[in-house]
Amino acid sequence: MKDSELFMKKTDLNELRKDPLLGRWVAVLNRSMPPSEYTMPPQDAHEETCPLCRGREEEAPKEIMSIREPGNQHAWLTRVIPNFNPVFKIEGDLGRRGDGMYDRMNSIGANEIIVESPEHGRPPEDLGLDQMTKVILTYRDRITDLERDPRLRYTLIYKNAGRNAGAVFSHPISHLASTPVIPKRVKEELDGAKQYFAYKERCIFCDIMREELRVGSRVINETRYFMAFCPYASKFPFETWIMPKRHSCSFQEIRHEEIEDMALILSGTLKKLRSLFTDISFNYFIHTAPNRVPRKDHWHTLGEDFHWHLEIMPRFLNTSGFEWGSGFYILTTSPEDASKYLREA
Ligand SMILES: [Zn+2]
Ligand SMILES: [Zn+2]
Ligand SMILES: [Zn+2]
Repeated sequence: MKDSELFMKKTDLNELRKDPLLGRWVAVLNRSMPPSEYTMPPQDAHEETCPLCRGREEEAPKEIMSIREPGNQHAWLTRVIPNFNPVFKIEGDLGRRGDGMYDRMNSIGANEIIVESPEHGRPPEDLGLDQMTKVILTYRDRITDLERDPRLRYTLIYKNAGRNAGAVFSHPISHLASTPVIPKRVKEELDGAKQYFAYKERCIFCDIMREELRVGSRVINETRYFMAFCPYASKFPFETWIMPKRHSCSFQEIRHEEIEDMALILSGTLKKLRSLFTDISFNYFIHTAPNRVPRKDHWHTLGEDFHWHLEIMPRFLNTSGFEWGSGFYILTTSPEDASKYLREA
């Protein structure tokens, strides 16, 4: 989802459709964008008119939560609001139904904007440790809250930074999308982890971490509670994963001292990427366990087999027809070399 969708007109419920071949769900927006809008320059809001800046709260949808300065109720530090034009909406029922041979349902869920700072234009790596800690706390509190809704299966927190990564706003924000189905990419990871556990009775992520620490050549950075490394078979050059050393399937169960440490390693890694590529675009997202409530039995080993993590994907726009057609990626910089550059940055 692009930031530019924030400013589109309000519409009724969007629709989710299932690809019968791949089992992947897509969201079809109620209001179709005409061809001319695809070539329009993105509408960034300038600081003078930005509805996400402090003092212009009235121009944004009603606040869901915030972290405020102690003793000053007007001064928010992070703030969560519904998306200006949400793809997933909380009101309504799922309305699962057939459509000829196909399956569809209503786009129930949540779509929120996490405003990371009152300061317009501040890059994520320069938020500062205190502020980054508050951002991570905000992520955690939102996922914890949405997990209670039995209609929802998954909450994805993600960030778009830079034009190539779909960001339009210069105000620092992250996004949240809560969906009534588990997204395919997440499902593949969950299934892979479950299979590995069934075979070896060990968490694959804990094994990967042990292996990476043993070999050392793909490790970028290590803190007390986390490690950052370039995965052995990354999809993109300079792809970086940040993983907690303590086994835990849910990001929501992160401890206070781990939050500060995560802020440290995330800021540090983003700073390193920025120092190698001045104008870098990237996405990052958190992969955590799905909501287990509706199908508890299916996930009986989840607590042991899955391990939450954050993935950073630099966006260099060098994906070709080969990658799209085959799902087979070509790494123009090896993970060993990428981590060496990042270690030394
Ligand atoms: Zn702003
Ligand atoms: Zn683990
Ligand atoms: Zn993942």
